Amino acid sequence: MKKTALVTGILGQDGPYLAKYLLEKRYKVYGMIRRYSAPNFTNLDYLGITKEIDYVDADLTDQSSLLRLIKLLHPDEVYNLAAQSFVKASFEQPVLTTNTNSLGVLYLLESIRLFSPTSKFYQASTSEMFGTNHTNGIQDENTPFHPRSPYGVSKVFAYWMTVNYREAYNIFACNGVLFNHESPIRGIQFVTRKVTDGVARIKLGLEKDIRLGNLDAIRDWGFAGDYVEAMYLMLQQDKPDDYVVGTGVGHSVKDLVKAAFKAIGISNWQDYVKQDPRFMRPAEVPKLVANPEKAHKVLGWKPKVSFEELIKMMVEADIKRLKK
Ligand code: GDP
Repeated sequence: MKKTALVTGILGQDGPYLAKYLLEKRYKVYGMIRRYSAPNFTNLDYLGITKEIDYVDADLTDQSSLLRLIKLLHPDEVYNLAAQSFVKASFEQPVLTTNTNSLGVLYLLESIRLFSPTSKFYQASTSEMFGTNHTNGIQDENTPFHPRSPYGVSKVFAYWMTVNYREAYNIFACNGVLFNHESPIRGIQFVTRKVTDGVARIKLGLEKDIRLGNLDAIRDWGFAGDYVEAMYLMLQQDKPDDYVVGTGVGHSVKDLVKAAFKAIGISNWQDYVKQDPRFMRPAEVPKLVANPEKAHKVLGWKPKVSFEELIKMMVEADIKRLKK
């Protein structure tokens, strides 16, 4: 019998990479899609797996749809990757962000507890939960949370609910506390993709500059394709637990811009970048850098793609896309 996995957020960035990884491991993959008038399969198309997934209808904000789905499928593994995941948007839509990212996770956990308690559960937790807190300049599993956005706050609720279902009901539930992870199919509003797309447009003469917010913010940027392996590995351990996943290396937004322009042979990047207050955040997280030692030791996980390789890969993919 093939193992089965239910993946929420199948149309996003991580869903397609995880689905591809699980398909290679011979899983039957169910991709959960909420009702859209025109669902967008571009990211799955990019990885060439659109036809290999079994699509199922449900919505994280509709508890009855999740109860029905979990009762029907009894999946071996559930990966909850669906979310309102853009930090900036969470300041404008905090209630929607909370309904999806907090209550949605509770509905899913309740469905598992009631109808499929042997399903293993992965929750997409985030470094944004740490906010301004750190342990000697970096963040690990023991760093206390101090979220700085409605997004971060909503994810803290889901984190603890996941821990509680593990402790109270013995559900095999894990949190992957993932630091920023990017790819050629990253949403265009995130800073990496905004920059690589902007650089590609400048290269092709379609645009003259890129407008950005805070250039001093530091993030630990890794490749999404590497990170989905850590998700899978968490659910294959003897015991459920929570893990920080990142590269351990921090770069500023300025470093990112520099690396992206370098990929097209431009060194005077300052001439092409304008600061724009519209992209500043009401409350910023100045620095997030992982200490991924536990994931290395326990899961045997290590990232393969470096920051420079990642940015180059994204710039090249954007140039190719725009040329079409
Ligand atoms: P986040 O870490 O989940 O918020 O991921 P983002 O890619 O959206 O932002 C990463 C960092 O880049 C944050 O500190 C932002 O403030 C900073 N940043 C600077 N300019 C921009 C911009 O124009 N767009 C976005 N999205 N972020 C920007």
